[in-house]
Amino acid sequence: MNILITGGAGYIGSHVVKLLGQTTQHNIIVLDNLSTGFQHAILYGKLVICDLSIIKEVEKIFQHNNFDIIIHFAASIDVSESLSNPLKYYENNTLNSINLIKMALKYKVKKFIFSSTAAVYGNSKKMFVNENDDTQPLNPYGWSKLMTERILMDMVGDTQDFEYIILRYFNVAGASADGKLGSYNKNATHLINMATKVVVGELEEMFVFGNTYNTKDGTCIRDYIHIDDLASAHLKAVEYSGSGIFNCGYGQGYSVKEVIETMKKVSGKDFKINIVGKRIGDIEAIVADNKKILTKMQWHPQYNDLDFICKSSLDWYKKQCAM
Ligand code: UDP
Repeated sequence: MNILITGGAGYIGSHVVKLLGQTTQHNIIVLDNLSTGFQHAILYGKLVICDLSIIKEVEKIFQHNNFDIIIHFAASIDVSESLSNPLKYYENNTLNSINLIKMALKYKVKKFIFSSTAAVYGNSKKMFVNENDDTQPLNPYGWSKLMTERILMDMVGDTQDFEYIILRYFNVAGASADGKLGSYNKNATHLINMATKVVVGELEEMFVFGNTYNTKDGTCIRDYIHIDDLASAHLKAVEYSGSGIFNCGYGQGYSVKEVIETMKKVSGKDFKINIVGKRIGDIEAIVADNKKILTKMQWHPQYNDLDFICKSSLDWYKKQCAM
């Protein structure tokens, strides 16, 4: 099959490109503007450098390739930036997706796999969320993704030969188990990235955003999924027949303090923690109910192990620092 992967030079996209390249014969074309991605992260397939907003250029790619599937990663992903510059998010994430969906329909692409996020759930009343639960995003980033979800769902009708798969990612972290790939984004501010930077000495201390939440130790709870398992969920989505929304997480929650303790344990390094105020817009506790992806897609995650997630992140970062 011919597969178009937008944003294939980014953290998640590049791991999916690698897995598809290693385990399938599919023909991969990566479309990326390299604004946050890296050409050297694309280990398989062909790269076309192009911005999704330049519709004429995008159309040329469709004219020259007979795509069977689109996997759409390209997006802006910084939650706080989305609050200060919402239009950027509605343009990059929603408008560009509409144009890509239009192209998919015009060129009869039968399947569209979309990178969505647990951020669409917002402040859910319960910790374990399933795909039918209410969605009420807390920021333009989440809304820009949820709007695209809705649009995709509206495209499926009697007349269209078109399927969508929406993957709602929980907290993606770590680097590939074979040591070949990880995140090249040194500016990432996610919890495991920050803890990694403290261990390698790039930061002197780290901050915990709030310890008065109604959780086991007062800090927020998240479901951390290893990048290779998220990549394998995409492989399952490529093979799956039918449309649907699927949570991508392990169904297991860890607190911020537990993650930090794990990082200290696997690194053998103690480091300074400062408890500061709550971060605006943080969800108290959110964990994937992942029954649907486990049963319907027969997804078999292999790295549900916080030690390994933290260790792989650390090893990768050290390797980057040494280069
Ligand atoms: N967090 C923290 N200190 C940091 C980074 C994150 O305490 O330096 C907390 C954050 O408040 C949240 C959790 O760690 O409760 C996960 O945050 P992250 O940014 O990794 O992912 P999010 O769930 O916000 O997408």
